[in-house]
Amino acid sequence: MTDLSFDGRAFINGERIAARDGQTFDCISPVDGRLLTAVARCGEADIDAAVAAARAAFEDRRWSGMAPAQRKRVMIKFAEQLIAHADELALTETLDMGKPVKYARSVDVNSAANCIRWYGEAVDKVYDEIAPTPSTALALITREPVGVVGVIVPWNYPMIMAAWKIAPALAAGNSVVLKPSEKSPLTALRLAELALAAGIPPGVFNVVPGYGAEAGSPLALHMDVDCIAFTGSTRVGKQIHVMAGQSNLKRAWTELGGKSPNIVFADCPDLDKAVEAAVGSIFFNQGESCNAPSRLFVEASIKDAFLEKALKLVPQYQPGNPLEKSTVMGAIVDRTQLDTVLRYIESGRQEGAKLLAGGEAVEPVKGGLYVQPTIFDGVTNTMTIAREEIFGPVLSVLSFTDAADVVKQANSNIYGLQAAVWTRDINKAHGVARALRAGTVHVNQYDEDDITVPFGGFKQSGVGRDKSLHAFDKYTETKTTWIRIDSPL
Ligand code: NAD
Repeated sequence: MTDLSFDGRAFINGERIAARDGQTFDCISPVDGRLLTAVARCGEADIDAAVAAARAAFEDRRWSGMAPAQRKRVMIKFAEQLIAHADELALTETLDMGKPVKYARSVDVNSAANCIRWYGEAVDKVYDEIAPTPSTALALITREPVGVVGVIVPWNYPMIMAAWKIAPALAAGNSVVLKPSEKSPLTALRLAELALAAGIPPGVFNVVPGYGAEAGSPLALHMDVDCIAFTGSTRVGKQIHVMAGQSNLKRAWTELGGKSPNIVFADCPDLDKAVEAAVGSIFFNQGESCNAPSRLFVEASIKDAFLEKALKLVPQYQPGNPLEKSTVMGAIVDRTQLDTVLRYIESGRQEGAKLLAGGEAVEPVKGGLYVQPTIFDGVTNTMTIAREEIFGPVLSVLSFTDAADVVKQANSNIYGLQAAVWTRDINKAHGVARALRAGTVHVNQYDEDDITVPFGGFKQSGVGRDKSLHAFDKYTETKTTWIRIDSPL
């Protein structure tokens, strides 16, 4: 483990390269505070170089001009590269952002590889259209790659968030410039090397690590980027749309924050399952999931029974060393995020919520950043911890009296990413699911997930959808070609 070394240089035009001005920043592990490596602190000049490489690759059609069956084979090889390097990628992800290595391996690597493979397989299976026009003409409706796609991702699922964007973008024939989060840049850089090894030509997939204002903004503002695909906070997402409008009106797609309501009715078909899902999902990935069910609404008549069961599960989520296989909750990504989580916990206390579990920072590994799994009861919808995204292992428990009351409470939030409803009454399940303003609604479970379904939000949870064939809409232009037919018949 100690002989693991990382290369933090950017990846432009098929080569590892330092930032033009030689600047770097330190990549520190939240697991134990160790320095992992110095990472290229890319700025405008590096973004320009990466975009120029991506543009050149797009113009000479070295990738988009490849036969679809061949592009498919290369994408599938790319996915296989991830699996071949799964242990290394999982360990890197864990050291870089703190998640338990067992999940980095079983969830992050597998899911990123599956995503790349799935879009690869789609390349030669998606057909274009012919419009039902009069016989005097033929109207073709075809899809073309948009060109150069800028991708900006967060740190919570670094490989998966990158894969959800680069896979459909590359499969559609685009060139990509990816800016990973400054908090977790290492696996993205390895993905670019693995893509090259799989046969994705130089210049087609570039990675430029750096800070948001220094590397992200120049990418979002770039006049030669045709599309910007962003995942991150709603605050920065709004700026991305402004930057797209301020520059060349590039297509802007944003996957943003969430404060997902999880609604448990008294006629829930399996209370134990509902408790396990509520607790397991909020504490998974240290609560650093955009779709974490962070607002738990329990019908008043079963709330005490529900919470008694929930509290029994909390000890198994105590944070531990993420490098140990038994650990289910790891480290918080950095000091800033840890402080944010602790500030929200303090605000819960101050605003009168009842702390049932956790609430403190702990240090199961010396020098690391960890916080206890935390549950607040007696939360009302006006409290800060019910309104704002915490992005940490903090569950806010609220109660309700009937379906109309809970739908109103659940929808009174700026976000609309996910929601869940637990009931054995099919009419109630359907009615509530329809009334909830969210991109995904779960019924009697929370964990189902598949690359075949769209993922994204209503309201301020963003614009556009990742995953599924719908994602191709973001990375392709639709073209109509009219062909006159002077038929002799
Ligand atoms: P963030 O918005 O702070 O940063 C996201 C990315 O944007 C990073 O790469 C960052 O460097 C970059 N960035 C920051 N300022 C920028 C600027 N001015 N111009 C261009 N780029 C800039 O978010 P974060 O803290 O990294 O991630 C957490 C957020 O991501 C949460 O709100 C979470 O809900 C959201 N998220 C959403 C989804 C989804 O699919 N909806 C998935 C994962 C995470």
